[in-house]
Amino acid sequence: MNLEEKKKQLRELYDQYEREVAEFKKAAACEIGCADCCIDVGNIDITTLEGIIIHKRITTFEELIQAEIKERLAQNKLEREEKKLSRCAFLNEDKMCIIYDIRPFSCRQLYSVKRCNGEPPTIHRQAVEMGKQIREKIQQLDFAGYSGHISYILYLLDKDKFRKNYLSGKFEPKKIMDFGKSHGILINRYLRK
Ligand code: SF4
Repeated sequence: MNLEEKKKQLRELYDQYEREVAEFKKAAACEIGCADCCIDVGNIDITTLEGIIIHKRITTFEELIQAEIKERLAQNKLEREEKKLSRCAFLNEDKMCIIYDIRPFSCRQLYSVKRCNGEPPTIHRQAVEMGKQIREKIQQLDFAGYSGHISYILYLLDKDKFRKNYLSGKFEPKKIMDFGKSHGILINRYLRK
């Protein structure tokens, strides 16, 4: 399956999740301008497939914005390594996501039936289970890739060699073994049931 087909299937999985949880999300207390989950949650994990879409989008921004995003991603990486909470690199001053249309599944999954006010979101258990199933399908779809914190996956994809290897479908986990072990990077094909 080529990359374009994978992207199409990824969008279908996002849509499937939205359909499945639509009834639950009706109870969500989330509203525009509330970005607690983009500020207080350090667990935005993505797959390389989602990462390559975001990486490409970054290249479409003006140079100054690109530089700011890269600086914020480096900061996110550092904060994550130090186990601190960090504000997402893609959240702008107005608390809006600048990659909203291509935000990863971890973000799509988040909603809360109560205002978070600094606490973790309150999500229906059934929606969490549905989310787990969709996440597994996304990881299976990204069979040749990896999963990990958004700043770690984008850090890897910003390296020409890693990105070219990934895009050509080469599977060389040994090349990122040290970084992978120290940063909790998962190898998607080994997560298959
Ligand atoms: S990618 Fe967008 S939706 Fe996801 S945490 Fe960052 S700002 Fe929020």
